[in-house]
Amino acid sequence: MSNSLPNVASLGELKPGHVWLVGAGPGDPGLFTLLGLSAIQQADVVVHDALIGQDILDWANGDAELVFAGKRGGVSSPKQVDISSRLVALAKQGKRVVRLKGGDPLVFGRGGEEALALLDAGVPFRFVPGVSSGIGGLAYAGIPLTHRSTNSAVTFITGHSVTGDVPDNVDWTGLAKSSPALVIFMAIKHLDRIMQSLIAGGRPIDEPVAVVQNATLPNMRILDTTVGRTVEDVSAHKFGSPALIVVGANVGLREQLNWLEV
Ligand code: SAH
Repeated sequence: MSNSLPNVASLGELKPGHVWLVGAGPGDPGLFTLLGLSAIQQADVVVHDALIGQDILDWANGDAELVFAGKRGGVSSPKQVDISSRLVALAKQGKRVVRLKGGDPLVFGRGGEEALALLDAGVPFRFVPGVSSGIGGLAYAGIPLTHRSTNSAVTFITGHSVTGDVPDNVDWTGLAKSSPALVIFMAIKHLDRIMQSLIAGGRPIDEPVAVVQNATLPNMRILDTTVGRTVEDVSAHKFGSPALIVVGANVGLREQLNWLEV
């Protein structure tokens, strides 16, 4: 067996006029994929979100243009349609384009929307998955996403819709009743309403909750709380975005499995 590292350039060619929608993982550069690395090294332009760390951007080809297309402080700047048109325009200029997103591009990342716009414009694209914060971030907090004795199912939910409101197509009460474990993305802004809906759906107020902020990064913080105390504790300890709210008995395993602190 060979023990040499793979030549990332051999993993696939990013051709001029093509767009790759790449997931950068939750933050720790070690979680970036080899295919993602190959992509940003080949790219002429990297269009990236706010959550992408400088250490990963530094791996881009030295001549590559870096374009910031993120959202700051919940304000969408620039608009989604503008980002999609920009990707189309860059590809039509014959550029090799990487659209770099936090986590996985297809998990609450609008990767699908951008891909549909590219498809519409006849621009060839591909997806390069990344480690979603909802999976990898939990591992860094010592929380198994599933565990036979606690939960055989898990639900990923967004607490934020396109309009910035709590999504009205999410049946919070139904999910509270049916899903043993919940991982809620973008939940901080509407936390009060979300936790109230879960309680209304029957979640016990003493059920364990972890709030995981800046997961996998050196400034990661974790709040151990309960369904009934989450809102108060988040505010008292000043937790903010980006954070995941994890609700379920699996959160309790953190006590033993928090490998970062053992
Ligand atoms: N595509 C991303 C999610 C994008 S939505 C993924 O797969 O992870 C943005 C939300 O993701 C944030 O509001 C937060 O809820 C979550 N998130 C992303 N990175 C995070 C991190 N390092 N720590 C905690 N939450 C994170």
